[in-house]
Amino acid sequence: MALTNTIYSSPVFQQACSQFDAAADILGMDAGLRERTKRPRRCVVVSMPVRMDNGKIEIFEGYRVQHNLSTGPAKGGIRFHHDVTLGEVAALAMWMSWKCSLAGLPYGGGKGGVIVDPRALSITELERLSRRYMQEIIPFIGPNVDIPAPDVGTNEQVMAWMMDTYSNHQGHYDPGVITGKPVSLGGSLGRREATGEGVAWFVKAYLQDLNIPPEKTKVIIQGFGNVGSEAALALYNWGAEITGISDYTGGVYNAKGIDLKAALAHIAQHKTLQGFRGGDTLTNEQLLEQECTVLIPAALERVITEKNAGKLKCRVLAEGANGPTTNEADKIISDRGDIELIPDVLCNSGGVIVSYFEWLQNLQNYYWTKPEVFDKLHRMLAKAKASVDETMKKYNCSRRTAALVLGIARVAEAKASRGLFP
Ligand code: GLU
Repeated sequence: MALTNTIYSSPVFQQACSQFDAAADILGMDAGLRERTKRPRRCVVVSMPVRMDNGKIEIFEGYRVQHNLSTGPAKGGIRFHHDVTLGEVAALAMWMSWKCSLAGLPYGGGKGGVIVDPRALSITELERLSRRYMQEIIPFIGPNVDIPAPDVGTNEQVMAWMMDTYSNHQGHYDPGVITGKPVSLGGSLGRREATGEGVAWFVKAYLQDLNIPPEKTKVIIQGFGNVGSEAALALYNWGAEITGISDYTGGVYNAKGIDLKAALAHIAQHKTLQGFRGGDTLTNEQLLEQECTVLIPAALERVITEKNAGKLKCRVLAEGANGPTTNEADKIISDRGDIELIPDVLCNSGGVIVSYFEWLQNLQNYYWTKPEVFDKLHRMLAKAKASVDETMKKYNCSRRTAALVLGIARVAEAKASRGLFP
């Protein structure tokens, strides 16, 4: 049933709710438990005055939504983007609940967001905004309550400022409050690569199931941020050809393969792909419709829609981003039957899994090597993949619904067993 009588109402929140309903139907969940499991538990909205470099004060708006706290502290990133909305953050928090639950992590789900274009800020303005956001949400978070992490528009440096702000408030170094930190501040080895590494791991595993070797694999990646670039690098090193990449300035396509090292060097120098001459220039929309073996949307929500779903020319659709496929597009893809879709809550779960490892290492003050991190990561990914594929067969449903059935069932079970307080 549509959840319209809430402050979260928006197309992306509706997308997350409809996905939930499809899984809850399969589980035969009763109305009370269904509503309790679906609704975000709580949220804060904060206004942040920030002194800009020109001396003027600007007010930014930010959110933190905790969707579920029944299976552990909330966990999920903080997004800095000019189009952030509360409904979007709530949908992303909901997906974090299912993602953590599916991977078997002892967490609930949360997400934060600030309406800002971080590229328009100077480094000092970005620091003041990051610290102020953390300052405002301190009463709401903590290593046992809610543990943020990076998301679109935030990075290790932002996590370092936030950790410093929180630790100063506590009066002692407290790295377990946030993950995705620099390694020098209790960050985990492998966290930076983890989401892209996980996406690449799933792509390789599903290609293996389809008997497609690396030398026959052409990959297109929309979004060349942390997730997209690390996935590209892992697949390139495996022997696949990267034929298309893009960022917010546009896309580059080269049927003979893009020189990835040159693309990364261009970004390191110019910050964006604009002006990169490694292929033909295309728009982001055109890039999604080019022929390839693997298409990886690794940017924002709702880019695969009813308009382009019928035109996709890929064999595998690997969701590096959260919520890149609308429900209408989902239906078209499953009716087509010729695309293996690796759903977001499974496909990009490597990031939060290594965040969990980072938090564990912080709490224990005992740090692991990178091979240890990746070995543990790959084992957890393999387990999640096997359980999703088994559930898909059991219920004869899509891979997305199977992943959600598993994620949602655990949260609902925990809620039912805990009962109502008081
Ligand atoms: N923002 C990432 C996600 O969407 C990572 C969250 C985390 O590491 O807590 O999964």
